[in-house]
Amino acid sequence: MTEVFTGSFTQQEPIPDEGIAAANAVMRHGRLHRYNTSGDEIAEAALLEEEFAATTGARYCLAVASGGYAMTTALRACGVVHGDRVLTNAFTLAPVPGAIAAVGGVPVFVGVTEDLVIDLDDLARKLDQAQVLLLSHMRGHICDMRALMALCDAAGVTVIEDCAHTMGATWDGVPSGRWGRFGCYSTQTYKHINSGEGGLLICDDAADMARAIMLSGSYMLFERHRAAPPPEAFAQIKYETPNISGRMDNLRAAILRPQLRGLSAQAARWNARYRVVDDGLRDTPGLRLINRPVQEEFVASSFQFLLLDWSAEAVADVITRCKARGVELKWFGGAEPSGFTSRYDSWRYAPSDRMPASDRVLAGIVDMRLPLTFSLDDCALIARIIRAEVSAVFQGQVAAE
Ligand SMILES: *Cc1c(COP(=O)(O)O)cnc(C)c1O
Repeated sequence: MTEVFTGSFTQQEPIPDEGIAAANAVMRHGRLHRYNTSGDEIAEAALLEEEFAATTGARYCLAVASGGYAMTTALRACGVVHGDRVLTNAFTLAPVPGAIAAVGGVPVFVGVTEDLVIDLDDLARKLDQAQVLLLSHMRGHICDMRALMALCDAAGVTVIEDCAHTMGATWDGVPSGRWGRFGCYSTQTYKHINSGEGGLLICDDAADMARAIMLSGSYMLFERHRAAPPPEAFAQIKYETPNISGRMDNLRAAILRPQLRGLSAQAARWNARYRVVDDGLRDTPGLRLINRPVQEEFVASSFQFLLLDWSAEAVADVITRCKARGVELKWFGGAEPSGFTSRYDSWRYAPSDRMPASDRVLAGIVDMRLPLTFSLDDCALIARIIRAEVSAVFQGQVAAE
């Protein structure tokens, strides 16, 4: 009997009851705007910021409209202006170069290694081309952060971290988002906490956060923030900083607060699913698993493997065969951007020289979501299906040679 998987790769868990109750309370009183508070009421958005700052150990936190908005705000707060070049990962998703383009910047792409992290040798070669690196911890893979920070510090390059896939993750015990000048997070449905849309921004510098808060559209109401620098930090900045509205509202914040409290328990559930898939695919001929260093404590909301040096036809064959058995794999190597996958050469507004070593890796990256609605048995079944189809296509290739 051929096994088929019938679950949905895009179905997340429901919002916890506590979050639904908190959201209902906000809707009942009607004060959804974060600065619309009654008496000494503290807005849900301000409480979320305080709690997220405490979770990450950051001094300051700002809740915003999206992860993309968090990145553009960080870029602006770091002084990136029209025409500036900004280093970023060749292996990432479209909102990352998009954030650079949104502030008029020019992305300079840095290659990807077989471990799916930024190529530090390529970075070292390109560090003199820009003053800022927007580092994407794409799909939760974290590079050697000590080595990266040493390189960037020595070159005077500011690091902004895109932690859309690493909320709750650490490198060498330090939370992702706490290495660079700013850490940017997304609370969009497919990330680690879900408010449909939303973002969070953390940093330790008072002037940086004062600029970010003014940028986000605080008007002169910045004193209503809690995870924020004191009013003195805004003395000049409030006159000099444009208002580019992108606030988070209290409804989203109310939904997120209980999820934030549950984040480490959810991370353990994600990682249990990851290990079942990883074990199930171990030693599959032709399939390469991704090395996870001991310093990396990840949150595996997705799974990647490599079909390195396979022909495009053979990879496409695996994708098609798995799909026929209910397993939705995404391929980053496709020449045409599709779904959420695209590659640096599909972002034609940001031309780049070819990177042959990275092209080889990108051509082999296969990606799969791991929603928490999957049971461990589901994950074992998914691994059996992938293993069988990869093996069948691989043997066919070998036989044809
Ligand atoms: C989702 C995502 C973002 C942006 O988040 P939005 O909230 O959707 O704007 C940034 N970087 C990566 C890698 C993402 O996957």
